[in-house]
This record gives sequence, structure tokens and C-alpha cells, in this order.
Amino acid sequence: MRLAKTGIGWLVVFFIGMFGVGCANPTVVPLYESPTPERITQSPLVEAFPTAVPSTPTLEVIQPEPLQPALPSYSIDAVYDAAQKKVNVTQLITFTPPSTKPIHEITLIAEPNRYTNGFVLSRLENQATGQELDWELQGNRLKIGLADPLTDQQSLTILAEYTLQLPEIPPPSDTSKPQIFGYTQRQTNLVDWYLWLPPYEDEAGWVIHPPSFFGEYTVYPMADFEVHFEVINSPRQVIVAATSSPVEQTQNEWKYRLDSARNFALSVSADFQVAETEVEGVKISSYYFPLYKRQGEAVLQHTVQAYQLYSELFGELPRSSISAVQADFMDGMEFDGLFFLSKGFYDLYDGTDRGYLTLITVHETAHQWWYTVVANDQAQHPWLDEALCTYAERLYYERFLSESVEWWWYYRVNFYQPTGVIDLSVYDYKGYLAYRDAVYLRGALFLEELRKELGDEPFFAGLKNYYTENMGKIAVPQDFFGAFDLTEQVVLEKWGSYFGREQ
Ligand SMILES: [Zn+2]
Repeated sequence: MRLAKTGIGWLVVFFIGMFGVGCANPTVVPLYESPTPERITQSPLVEAFPTAVPSTPTLEVIQPEPLQPALPSYSIDAVYDAAQKKVNVTQLITFTPPSTKPIHEITLIAEPNRYTNGFVLSRLENQATGQELDWELQGNRLKIGLADPLTDQQSLTILAEYTLQLPEIPPPSDTSKPQIFGYTQRQTNLVDWYLWLPPYEDEAGWVIHPPSFFGEYTVYPMADFEVHFEVINSPRQVIVAATSSPVEQTQNEWKYRLDSARNFALSVSADFQVAETEVEGVKISSYYFPLYKRQGEAVLQHTVQAYQLYSELFGELPRSSISAVQADFMDGMEFDGLFFLSKGFYDLYDGTDRGYLTLITVHETAHQWWYTVVANDQAQHPWLDEALCTYAERLYYERFLSESVEWWWYYRVNFYQPTGVIDLSVYDYKGYLAYRDAVYLRGALFLEELRKELGDEPFFAGLKNYYTENMGKIAVPQDFFGAFDLTEQVVLEKWGSYFGREQ
């Protein structure tokens, strides 16, 4: 990374690498022997049909809501050999077909297979029958053919055993996308590391996008997680940052349970130091490397304040922990309950809030609302989360650092004189800068215009509506505009230039 540049020069360099150029019990029984019970997603029937007979016969028949299918559940038993950089995984994947039509083929996402020898599958079977399943690996896809198609409400549990050979995270380069998954000398990151189910649409089937050079391309339906993680052969005691706090923990084993989550990420290091606090029952932690205490504490403070602000402005966050992790690579990246911040931001921190450490901390915190709770198809409509999180930076500065709002607009947005249509897919932009300018920067300008046009009260009410109405879902732009009572026609009339429809 060309850090020698000064002033605005390094701003340019930095943005290029910033957003994913693209963001126990030792005798515990293996989790696969005790699958999670199905998640109940509606109120118990007793609430709909009270047993007490009313004294006056005011008969009102309350129809129960139709049963929602249970979320997919992943029970993952993983042993990380820190010396070999290998993870042995036994995983149970339980799901009910998300379609009324028979399903002949299941496609699971196997991101580690994108790396050489990254993913070696040794067992794949129907857990109930013990029957081996037919499978084929193609890039990041594991296709499973079903001799007997699955029909509505017929759940299936797949037992998979595989080994991950972790790749080394390469030093930053101008020609390749920063890599998060893998290890460095002082950090191991497990992100998108297990088998998971993409969304399913009746017409399109399994929704999987090809990897993109910049921007994200994964789409995460909610799922329930049980993760048992063990570290062996580590010469030093490690600290583990994860999507959620462990429910059980010993020196080398961690057991997690988290329902309704987008994904489950882990970051392991023997060098981590931790600053943490609890706010309204939510544990907020900042993991940093030695000699970065000042930065680690600044990250904690801004994450706490951002959490409080966004809870007030957007809505309550159904999470019990948020972890900010100093990345041992030059990138920032969001996951459910956990985000990475480029080590470059820690190095450049000058003790003021006019810099990327502050700005990106509050950006990544906002992803817990826009990405985690309200998700979007990151490949097709990346602006839905990125524009909102960039605008959330502005809201943060407005509330806590009002003397720096103008600085923020200039250095973050207007300096670049951003152009471009904001709602294109990640594959449609000609390079990272064009993508960033349109999606993040013009996206924020569009939200500012929307706010000015509507007025503060309707604007913030609209954001809250969008959040509340789309919790747990994968939202599309129509959901966003609908939350503000705007039709597509009105949006195009007023703000057509942002959407490539100059009137
Ligand atoms: Zn972002």
C-alpha cells in the first residue's frame, strides 16, 4: 500500500483498498448428534385460543396465521489446527424447501473452494437415511442432485464432513482484491467458511452470483446457528472474536448459539487485546493488536455511540453483541455481529475524528442495520446497504461531531465529484472507483436530497419504516421507496439522474 502519499493523495489510495475492493465443555457431544429443535416462528397456539371460557359468550374465532417454514439451521463442529492451518468440519444443514414446487437440486455455497485445495469434501449424506448424496463442485457451488425431489414442508438434514486448508492472506496488491478469509502470522479469519444455503426463488431457483472483483456478491437468508469451535496445536493461548458471544467456553473451545443470523464469522489471534463495554445489555468489543490501545479504545467509543444513535434513528438491533476487529489486512468488511477495520486506518490515526478510523468504524457499525437485519442482494442492489451506511456516517458526524460535518462532505464525497447511476449491479461498474463514486458517494447525495425534499420528520420516519418492514428480509429498492410512500414513477421524476433516467 502506498502509504507514503500525503494529504488527499492518500485519501485516494486508501479508498481504493477500503471496502472489499471491492467489509465448554471439553467432553461436549458433537453437535451433529443433537440437532437444534425446529424454530417456532409464531406465537404458541394457546395465545390464539385461550383456555379460559369467557363469562359472556363473545365468540370470536381467531384464525392462527399459517405456519412459517423454519429457518435453515446449521450445526457446525469445527476443529482448527493452528499449526497446520486446517479446519476439520462436521456440519448438519437442516432446511425445509423454500418452494411449493418440487426441488430436484440443492445448491450450497462453498466459498473456500475458490482457493486451491481450500475445500475437501469427504462425506455428504442424507442424515436420516444415511444415504450418500450425489454432488458436484463447481467453483463456489456444491450442487446436490436429489433422486427423490423434495416437496413442500418436507425437511431434509444433510450431514457433511470436510476439511478447509486455509490460504495465507497475501500482502496488499493493486491488482487483486483484498482477501479476508485465511491466515496471517497473527490472525486467522473464518468468514463464509461453512456450507450455506443461498436464497431460493420459484422462477430463478437458487440465487447465487459469480464472485465480483470489487464489491460484495453474497446474499444471505436468515438462518439459525450452532457452532462448536475448537483450537488445537496453538503454541499460545488464542482469543476468538465472533459473530456472537459464546454460550460456553473453555480455554480452547467455544460454543455459540445464535438464531436468525445472516452468517457466522470468527477471527482468531493470540495477539488480540480487547476493550469492551456493555450498553443496554449489548456487549460491544474492540479487538486490536498490541501498541494500538489508543485506536482500539477510539473504535470502541465510536462503535458504542454509533450503536446508540442508530438504535434511536433506525430501530432496535436484535443482537446481544457487536465486535469490531482490527484486520491484519488492508480492508474493512462487515459480517453479522462482527466487522473488520483495515489495519491501515489504525496506522493513520492522528488522534482526531477527521480520518478513516472514525468514519469507517461508524460506517461498519451501520451495516448491522443495513446488511444484517435488513439485507439486500449485494450483487444486484449494492446501494441499498452501502449508500445507507455511508449516509449513516454523515448522521453520526451530525450528532456527535457537528463541527466536522462540512469536512465529511468534502473529504468523503464532494472531493471526488462523484458521478454514475447508483442502482446498478456490482458487475456493471467499470472499476472500483466508478462503483464507489456511484454507489457509496452519489448514494449518500441521493439520500441527502431525499431528506431535504421530504423534511426531517418524514425522512427519518421512512427510514424507520424501511427497517421495521424489512427486518429479516432481503429488501429490494421498491421496499425502500415504499417505506417513504414513494412510487417508482415519483422517484424517477424527481431523482431520475441518480437512477439513469434523466427526465
Ligand atoms: Zn459498507
